[in-house]
Amino acid sequence: MPELPEVETIRRGLTPLIVKKKIVQVEVDPTTKKAFQGDEGNVVDASVSEVRRRGKALLIDLDNGYTMMIHLRMTGQLIWRGANEEDNFAAGHPSKNFTDALPNKQTRVNFVFEEGVLYFNDQRKFGFVKVLPTGEVEQEKFIAELAKEPWEMDVKELFSKCQKHGKSPIKAVLLDQKVIAGLGNIYADESLFYASLHPAMRAGELSEEQVGLILEGARSVMMASIDSGGSTMATYVKPDGTTGSYLENFAQVFRREGRPCLRCGETILKTRVAGRGTHYCPKCQKAPEYFKDA
Ligand SMILES: [Zn+2]
Repeated sequence: MPELPEVETIRRGLTPLIVKKKIVQVEVDPTTKKAFQGDEGNVVDASVSEVRRRGKALLIDLDNGYTMMIHLRMTGQLIWRGANEEDNFAAGHPSKNFTDALPNKQTRVNFVFEEGVLYFNDQRKFGFVKVLPTGEVEQEKFIAELAKEPWEMDVKELFSKCQKHGKSPIKAVLLDQKVIAGLGNIYADESLFYASLHPAMRAGELSEEQVGLILEGARSVMMASIDSGGSTMATYVKPDGTTGSYLENFAQVFRREGRPCLRCGETILKTRVAGRGTHYCPKCQKAPEYFKDA
């Protein structure tokens, strides 16, 4: 599932390609009407003024007062095919679609621009594009409920939220988008490794200093991911279909079970915490006595 850094990578990648460009036509797959919510007439003949992001939602503001809110959910992709092949851009759920001929059977919406086409592909059909007045974006339920992102939040606020969720495992608290926005499974595991804290530790037992390390870890691993996501995109669009994993560029524990800890050499373990597959180093992240390995 695309997480916040991937959506930020898309925002950065699309900005130079579509800002100030005019949309001349919108084609929606008739079998998945839900993929495009709103009036096509509010999009056609408008130009893109800005590409923004709120949490995992991509917001394409148009110069006519409307915004296209795009949520990729599980398997969404945005693929740009321009007049110049070197401008081709693809991001989101990685698959060989990135280099296939388009549109294909997973294409839900084509946004035809004067100088290229933006394809919204979505194999599992949970993603959507919603057209709404720009001024109403902040009232959308899942945007209104979004907590601050790691960059916007200070240690005191996160510490006080951890205190309120006293008995919950810290990993569950970090995954709660109403506590802090943008941390999915990968970034929760990586932030806790950074802070040398076991994912099952009760949130209320952490000191303000420990919470500060988690926040620092979240910022640093997400930035590293955004930076490497940018460079990975160049690989995705190679004609040979190479996809390359951005994970390999920064993950210290995620999907590294059975391999040595990069800090101490101990074998990384995988367990379940908060119902999610969880990766940690048993030496760097000492388990609390109440932790029972699943
Ligand atoms: Zn270790």
